[in-house]
Amino acid sequence: MERSPTLHDGFQARARIQPLIRETPLIPSPDLADRIGARTLHLKLECLQHTGSFKVRGAANKILSLTDEEKDRGVITFSTGNHGKAVAYVAGRSGIRAVVCLSEHVPEYRAEAIQALGAEVSRKGKSQDEAEENYRELRISRGLIPVVPFDDPLIIAGQGTIGIDILKNLPNTDILLIQLSGGGLLAGIAMVAKSIHPNIHVVGISIERSPAMLESLKAGKPVPVEEKNSLADSLLGGIGLDNRYTLPMVEQFVDEHLLVTEDEIKAGMVYVFEKHRLVVEGAAAVGIAALMHRKIDVSGKNAVTVLTGSSVESEAYVRILREGLF
Ligand SMILES: *Cc1c(COP(=O)(O)O)cnc(C)c1O
Repeated sequence: MERSPTLHDGFQARARIQPLIRETPLIPSPDLADRIGARTLHLKLECLQHTGSFKVRGAANKILSLTDEEKDRGVITFSTGNHGKAVAYVAGRSGIRAVVCLSEHVPEYRAEAIQALGAEVSRKGKSQDEAEENYRELRISRGLIPVVPFDDPLIIAGQGTIGIDILKNLPNTDILLIQLSGGGLLAGIAMVAKSIHPNIHVVGISIERSPAMLESLKAGKPVPVEEKNSLADSLLGGIGLDNRYTLPMVEQFVDEHLLVTEDEIKAGMVYVFEKHRLVVEGAAAVGIAALMHRKIDVSGKNAVTVLTGSSVESEAYVRILREGLF
């Protein structure tokens, strides 16, 4: 597909990926709703999705859309995180060969998790850039089909299925607070939401440490980012210097942008554990973080945010809880 996805593509994606994904719960968060004066606040629990994040939606839509000849060749990606796991899972479940390229610095447990899902891990290079070089070489020499993490119409449509699920269950939603990194998630959900209810207010949440999309929107073109760390590591990274889809879609469909700090993210993670007994990674908690810290007025509104994933390393998580609770 060589054009931006539409609502129709979202509905097609929803039917296509249904056998490979879990229909995750959408639960109320009455305590936080009261505190901030929202009429209601709901959380979409993609942290309970297969592989621990929503990324399986986009990966499934892309991989299941390949031709038989492409499926026979196999797929390749270079993501270290949730996208790599999602590609491995979908390919494994569909009997398709998958190669995930990682640098030598990616921790062994991540490589093992990807291998356990049935993918081949190719470890080469000292940095993410060198892993990407290996990816390009293997893609060509082995004729594999690339499955990129966000800038692909089928990936965007797949992530947009979350918006369809939310509006089917909560048609009176007034405001959506959605994480923003590469923009596949936000572009997909915003496109779907605006197509169904043009009056829904769609807010993107970026991290102060790495607001790649915001800087690109300001510059009017993709800008490169520095490598940094964050508690919300799934939101790190640039939008790709050859970005074609997510930048224009975020520009078109998103109403407002907010930024959250590391301390705010930590408070959000602790809150989700304390009130909901759910383990989420930093990236998942940024919507909660923005609401808790009153970065936006939601009084009288029906608000929804997505808990996008649960990939947090145990020791780091325990440390965050300890620091946050005592
Ligand atoms: C990938 C990811 C995001 C951000 O999605 P983009 O499409 O890159 O904007 C948010 N949360 C989690 C847990 C993710 O894995």
